[in-house]
Amino acid sequence: MITRFAPSPTGLLHLGHALAAGVAWQAAEDAGGQFLLRIEDIDVGRCREEFAVALVEDLAWLGLRWAVPVWRQSERLRHYAAALERLRGLGVMYPCFCTRQEIAAALSAPQGEAGLGYPGSCRRLGAAEREERLGRGEACAWRLDAAAALALTGPLGWLDMAAGPQVVDALGVGDVVLGRKDVSTSYHVAVTVDDAAQGVSLVTRGEDLFGSTPVHRLLQALLELPVPRWWHHRLVCDEGGKRLAKRDAARSLRSLREAGVRPEEVWGRLGPLRAASR
Ligand code: GLU
Repeated sequence: MITRFAPSPTGLLHLGHALAAGVAWQAAEDAGGQFLLRIEDIDVGRCREEFAVALVEDLAWLGLRWAVPVWRQSERLRHYAAALERLRGLGVMYPCFCTRQEIAAALSAPQGEAGLGYPGSCRRLGAAEREERLGRGEACAWRLDAAAALALTGPLGWLDMAAGPQVVDALGVGDVVLGRKDVSTSYHVAVTVDDAAQGVSLVTRGEDLFGSTPVHRLLQALLELPVPRWWHHRLVCDEGGKRLAKRDAARSLRSLREAGVRPEEVWGRLGPLRAASR
């Protein structure tokens, strides 16, 4: 069994990350498996090297150990490009030229396909217009045609260790962006390709990402990748019940450590890792 913790270096880690890392580490430990650390740094505008360095130090301070090498997604872009090429070949993606403002305006219109999170405007473009705009080099994102993709794969399900068996439906997946305008890949593609390439067999992560898993399950089917199990665990909240955010530096592991808090106290505050389900 292989698990992983896959943070993005966009800020200092906080207690919620300690829980996420701890859950993955504990699950691997219990099964005599392997725990991996993967740095998800495709978002060049938001990721910073200093945070990548800091997160390794903070996790080591907590007493966690992981198998090496540590993969960095910024070094694996060609693998994501190959996956996107394959999806394009399957005819389950279309170029989307919309701006954020256009999407927001169309979704607030009464006929907008609000459930899909995208009004579908570019899905309905004619082939000639598509070719013409692509040929002209107009900037575009690449969206999944969720309904077409599911028609190709047939019915799909996935298993969450806490929430039980789940079914994938087109509405739950939505026409998500798989190739962004700026970085030409996306979280969904990178995480799916890497979890498979690293043999991750139990994907643990916070329940805020529960809604992304149908997308990943669908991508696995399209790309013929192995299917892991998932465990979406609870999030750590502040006293007001709001989930912790990376921008909240005062609650970072680093500031706890500087205030003299010991790693065992951090684990004590988080409670039992095996019981971190919803
Ligand atoms: N990199 C993602 C994040 O920082 C988590 C990826 C995952 O666990 O699927 O939120």
